[in-house]
Amino acid sequence: MRQNHFAKLEMLKKNKLAAGLLQERFPKVSGIVIQMRYYHRSRQLLMERTVNFCPSDYAYFKMGCMTRGCENGGFDLAVVINDLVKKGGKSAKGGLCCEGTSPELEAGHASIDYKISINYSARRSPGLKSPQLTSF
Ligand SMILES: [Zn+2]
Repeated sequence: MRQNHFAKLEMLKKNKLAAGLLQERFPKVSGIVIQMRYYHRSRQLLMERTVNFCPSDYAYFKMGCMTRGCENGGFDLAVVINDLVKKGGKSAKGGLCCEGTSPELEAGHASIDYKISINYSARRSPGLKSPQLTSF
């Protein structure tokens, strides 16, 4: 059991290192806020959680499944965040089901609703300023 826990921590560390830092992956992003609601079998609200990322954090967006006994489960928001940043979008909403499997757990044993907000650094290229605004 303890061994397993250590192996998991090592794995997490490796995954985080592989993901790189937020400021390296997304230099224009000044912060990301992920608000989540965890549900048991998509109905019963288990908990609410808000996670903040700043540029010096790892760009690792896989949230663990809270269900006991769930192996390799979780909710990976990396794709959603990648797409959002690519589009320059500021927020996204959606839901995910845990893909973890275990003999005692049925599929869809847990799910989340998420809301992602992304802040971009205010620095703009001077060419973007409109003349009407500067004439005041
Ligand atoms: Zn799970």
